[in-house]
Amino acid sequence: MKKKVLIVQPIHESGLKVFDDRFEVRVAPDPSVETVKREIKGVEGVVVRTAPFTREIIAAADSLKVIARHGVGVDNIDLRAATERGILVLNTPDANAVSVAEHTLTAIGALAKRVLPMDRATRRGDWEVRNEYKAVDLDGKVLGLIGIGRIGTLVARKAAAAFNMQVIAYDPYVRPEVAAKNGVILYEDLDRIFREADVISIHTPLTAETRGLVNGARLAMMKPSAFLVNFSRGGVVDEEALYQALKRGAIAGAALDVFEEEPPSRNHPLFELDNVLLSPHSAALTQECVVRMATGAARGVVEVLTG
Ligand code: NAD
Repeated sequence: MKKKVLIVQPIHESGLKVFDDRFEVRVAPDPSVETVKREIKGVEGVVVRTAPFTREIIAAADSLKVIARHGVGVDNIDLRAATERGILVLNTPDANAVSVAEHTLTAIGALAKRVLPMDRATRRGDWEVRNEYKAVDLDGKVLGLIGIGRIGTLVARKAAAAFNMQVIAYDPYVRPEVAAKNGVILYEDLDRIFREADVISIHTPLTAETRGLVNGARLAMMKPSAFLVNFSRGGVVDEEALYQALKRGAIAGAALDVFEEEPPSRNHPLFELDNVLLSPHSAALTQECVVRMATGAARGVVEVLTG
């Protein structure tokens, strides 16, 4: 009998091709909890992207052995419920670091050079914007990283190589000598990063410890000239506090690829601000990266179900 696999949200076709005729693969009509609960019967393996894979779904699964996360962050999967049922959870940790790091550096450069406001001003005929002198150089400036795992480390190396930035970081799970090998000075005091950095970039998972880590008090510690970049998870930054800080000029700008609620509502307050650069959780969705994530997640399912 063929092994049933459910793809919760569509993935690149290269991932589907990984499954040979030992598998019966079905893409869910939609990723809602109700639909997935219905589709999960008899399924042994699933590939999940960002949709919530809840305790309720796991309780409805009668044959599930493996959940493969297409990407890195597993905060959308109820890991405790999966563990209780002996279901293996995999991700594709090496697939997207380069893509997210490249986009992070692009955002840092765009904020510093005011790429989007300058583009908008030029199009509306506001040539004099060039004499406002708001763009800044990054050379010699301090980049503060929160989290220096795969993505954070690449961001550190690229920022030093491309912009000659000095890199400091907070990551309680990394040894100083490992950080030093990547040219990063590790701080034990998180708040010092907020006080000293010209650009802060977040690269932690969303956990009980990191939820709300960037709050009003920490934003108030930042230099008024500093930028905040969040390409990790929306819940790590208090969006309301960020909006207030940006609006009153407590910090110079921010770039977000992730939001507390995704997609954000059409009238999200941050949308009205000019000093914010936004993207739709797309840092890992490059042409190359979607192939790496799709094939990596699919191979993980195949290995577990046939190994
Ligand atoms: P990783 O596991 O390699 O690194 C995460 C790092 O965060 C680790 O070094 C860990 O020690 C550190 N960390 C954990 N708790 C911390 C804390 N309280 N304070 C400071 N550091 C802490 O993961 P990665 O591949 O570098 O990815 C990081 C995160 O980026 C993912 O968990 C995910 O949420 C996010 N991500 C976003 C996208 C996107 O499309 N925007 C894509 C991939 C990953």
